[in-house]
Amino acid sequence: MPVVLILLFIVCHALVLAIGSGPAGVGSFIFLVAAPLLAACCCVWRARHDRAALGWYTIALAMLLWSGGMALNLADALGAGRADITPRASLLLYVLYAVPLVFILARPRRERAIISLIEAAMAALLGVLFFVHTSFFADRIDVDEQAMRNMRYMFDVQNLCIASFATVRWLASDVPEWRSFFRVLALYALAYLLIAGYINHFTSEDSFGAYNDLLIDLPFLLLAWLAVRRASAPVLVPNPRLVRLVQAGGPMIVALLLLVVGTLVVDHARTLAFASFVVATIGFSLRSTLLQIGLLEHQAALDQLARQDGLTGVANRRQFDAVLQTEASRAYRSGAGLGLLLADIDHFKAFNDAHGHPAGDRCLQAVAAALQANVRRAGDCLARYGGEEFAVIVPDCGREDAVALAEKLRLGIETLALPEGAVSISVGVAFLRPSAMATTTQLLDDADSALYEAKRAGRNRVSVRDDVVAGF
Ligand code: GH3
Ligand code: MG
Ligand code: MG
Repeated sequence: MPVVLILLFIVCHALVLAIGSGPAGVGSFIFLVAAPLLAACCCVWRARHDRAALGWYTIALAMLLWSGGMALNLADALGAGRADITPRASLLLYVLYAVPLVFILARPRRERAIISLIEAAMAALLGVLFFVHTSFFADRIDVDEQAMRNMRYMFDVQNLCIASFATVRWLASDVPEWRSFFRVLALYALAYLLIAGYINHFTSEDSFGAYNDLLIDLPFLLLAWLAVRRASAPVLVPNPRLVRLVQAGGPMIVALLLLVVGTLVVDHARTLAFASFVVATIGFSLRSTLLQIGLLEHQAALDQLARQDGLTGVANRRQFDAVLQTEASRAYRSGAGLGLLLADIDHFKAFNDAHGHPAGDRCLQAVAAALQANVRRAGDCLARYGGEEFAVIVPDCGREDAVALAEKLRLGIETLALPEGAVSISVGVAFLRPSAMATTTQLLDDADSALYEAKRAGRNRVSVRDDVVAGF
């Protein structure tokens, strides 16, 4: 169906050209305004159904700018615009058309709003610079033969940059929706590059109203068709290094273009050139700093997650293993005692069966909080060792200190008021004597068998394993 409509669009446009309506092909202008508008509508429709919504809205904006430029050409042809303003305003819109595209091409995904704002401001300044540079040539067309050629080259460079950046982003996107988006953008930009190059270099200047206008429709109709087609990009797993390189290096594009185009305008717009150097440097540094802060915060949160138990908030098994290893090594070196407590909730299966799993989870959280309230000495480490088992590492302590802490923990849970009633824990204590050379595995085994003894002796009690003297 979309293909039929697109063919109908071209046939109607061709008919209007054949009939030759109005001065300077006014009828044809209407189709040239309508083609990018149609593409914009299709992109907005796609944005409402796609995860890469920002991308589709951005292309739609570019299409509106281009269509606006052509609408001003139409006004000019009808004699409705002011001859001193309309051509310049139309040129401005054609140049600004590239700004949203450069913005989305340079933007790595998942950016904070403030970073996107900085990038958008830099892209907007790039548009202004490009306009100043292009209109410098436009002003000189009547006096300088080279000027027109230079202006066309500028547009070639702009179109080439967009087509190549879009192709790189297409090949280096690892999210399917963004991959499809950049594929569409690359195909459109390539078609636009070829057709604009042909029109600009191989047709005469007053060519609006001729059959060449049909060619101008093509990239926009292609974009409209690809946007509504919603075919997913072919499955292709990009090299992860390339993906990261493009995501990290992409934002450099706008800063580099600002420096390059700033250098080009330095002779005829010195202040603007200077502003572009400042904005390129400060803008890029600021966005890098903000990005770095975000990454550091992210890293800290991940570190915390890797060490913490999700349910109870105390240290997890991985952190427990690391701390036990460190404290055991320290105990060997310093000769200080090291206590290890293993606490297990009594009859917890029955608790779960009676009150449900969610109540069991809340009980685990309350028990962890109550244990933590008594494990307050700096250096002591409370961890969730397994399902309903907790462990406490007590460095630099004597045997009696470890037993006293275990008793305190047991009492703390016994007196814990839960909506479902009382719970209790059994605690096994193992102790690494200053002179002993036991391994951490042995210490754990001893704490475990002490816990088993406490269970066997009737639960809700502390049991100590005293025979930790073995060597490696
Ligand atoms: P004992 O007194 O011998 O320790 O008996 P018990 O029922 O506590 O011991 P057992 O090891 O047989 O059961 C432990 C129960 O802990 C089984 C499991 O359903 C429960 N459990 C383990 N992890 C979780 C958890 O994250 N949430 C909840 N709600 N229950 C858990
Ligand atoms: Mg238990
Ligand atoms: Mg258990």
